Amino acid sequence: MARFGLFSNDVGIDLGTANTLIWQKGKGIVLNEPSIVAFDRTTKHIIAIGHEAQEMVGRTHREIKTIRPLKDGVIADFEIAEGMLRAFIRKLSASWQPARRMVICVPSGITEVEKRAVRDSAEHAGAKEVHLIAEPMAAAIGVGLDVHEPVGNMIVDIGGGTTEIAVIALSGIVADESIRIAGDELTTSIVNYFKRQHNMLIGDRTAEIIKVNVGSAYPLDEELVIEVKGRDLVSGIPKSIEVGSDEIREALNENITVIVDAVLNLLEKTPPELSADIFDRGIILTGGGALLKGLDQRLQRETKLPVHVADDPLTAVARGTGKVLEDLSAYSSVLIKSKRY
Ligand code: ADP
Ligand code: MG
Repeated sequence: MARFGLFSNDVGIDLGTANTLIWQKGKGIVLNEPSIVAFDRTTKHIIAIGHEAQEMVGRTHREIKTIRPLKDGVIADFEIAEGMLRAFIRKLSASWQPARRMVICVPSGITEVEKRAVRDSAEHAGAKEVHLIAEPMAAAIGVGLDVHEPVGNMIVDIGGGTTEIAVIALSGIVADESIRIAGDELTTSIVNYFKRQHNMLIGDRTAEIIKVNVGSAYPLDEELVIEVKGRDLVSGIPKSIEVGSDEIREALNENITVIVDAVLNLLEKTPPELSADIFDRGIILTGGGALLKGLDQRLQRETKLPVHVADDPLTAVARGTGKVLEDLSAYSSVLIKSKRY
């Protein structure tokens, strides 16, 4: 603490499947990078993380492998995830000291074993005190909701690997649903669509660019066109075609329907008093997936509720984690109670 004057080494971490964001106490968001690691296949030695590792994706040679250690929202590769976390924290400052306190977000559906793994990783990365918070709770705090109120709010956080849907009231999660259909699956469905409909192989990064630029979940006021380059599956030769946003919407539709159904499902399971609150307040969308064009309109049509996209949805969870870190005593009731072994 003393060494940095106003700043401490306490950090809040949104360890997302797609992006890792770190909030440093007194400073705000100090790191925002893809959750990607490039490592040596044989030694498991980490070669690059974040943006630098992302540049290597799809361009590595036999000795190097790039992975996203959190893929489905939980730690898929423990050793690599821990190395990534440690490397990110070390990146924050040249005169690095171990973070004393860490507040880390985890998916709401996480098991005890998975919680243990996150805690252990944080401790190995230098934390003396680790607090866990459920992602939708952090998202709710991040968008400015008063989560302590005896009023129900519904949050839908669409990340890379998981969509987390939760009803929050009185500092707790009343009902939740977590599905493994989110941004990654939407991207994959575009790759598959091009194979099927256009006999064309496109890369994941191309598919993501298509999704972000012309992807939609509801008819657009003005439909868009994009030029797509890839490899012809029959001739093997590179080719380029133009496709419309209506086609991409068709490609995304099946997975969008799964997300919408999960929301409807949770609405059905919500206690009536809270349903009444949600009827008045609507649904709040966070996470990168909230930026998909027309997703709010689609959800609005199917749920008949008001739907709001959070401001800066990609940082909502990190901002919420930050608020909790800045005032741990005020937010102690929203933290996940730890089981001691
Ligand atoms: P996580 O919390 O799992 O790390 P994020 O909340 O950072 O995930 O969101 C990442 C996902 O959001 C990715 O799948 C990315 O493709 C998607 N995404 C980002 N921007 C957009 C956009 N404008 N339209 C649609 N999807 C987007
Ligand atoms: Mg997230």
